[in-house]
Amino acid sequence: MACRFCRTKSVWKFTNQQQLCASCFARYFESKVKKIIRKYQMPISILKKKSLKAEIINIIIKDLPERKGRLSDENLNDISNKILENIIFSNMSSLKNYLPKFLPKNQPLYFLSDKEILLYARIKKIRGKINEPKKKLVDINNFIKKIEEKNPDIRHNIVDALLKSKNEK
Ligand SMILES: [Zn+2]
Repeated sequence: MACRFCRTKSVWKFTNQQQLCASCFARYFESKVKKIIRKYQMPISILKKKSLKAEIINIIIKDLPERKGRLSDENLNDISNKILENIIFSNMSSLKNYLPKFLPKNQPLYFLSDKEILLYARIKKIRGKINEPKKKLVDINNFIKKIEEKNPDIRHNIVDALLKSKNEK
């Protein structure tokens, strides 16, 4: 049970079995947030919202040069819930026409799960918790959680399918 980089005790295991220690995990998390901001040219501006996720984003972007616009604190769990909600409750003829509104735009935590966010917060000693999903999303969230027990990558699979359908346009 050792970190793949420094061989110290791991705190995180990816589904491909690779493991990271606390400080390598924090570095991985921060670089993932910065990478997505760069790749999708997201705004870089402090969130005013009071939430654990907003606080984490603010800490990570504080040394980056400002870029106009507004960020959202939605993460992988929020986005995968919403995508599924839209698929279930709409009469859509085609994913690629309907779902582009869920592509990464201003969500630096787009590819990061609740679990990863909570672990990062624990390592950095940031207090707070992640709010439960809105009432209308609770059933969908529970449904995905059930699938997650056997398929831990399901939320990534959902957003990947969306990104893929965009590229097939
Ligand atoms: Zn390490």
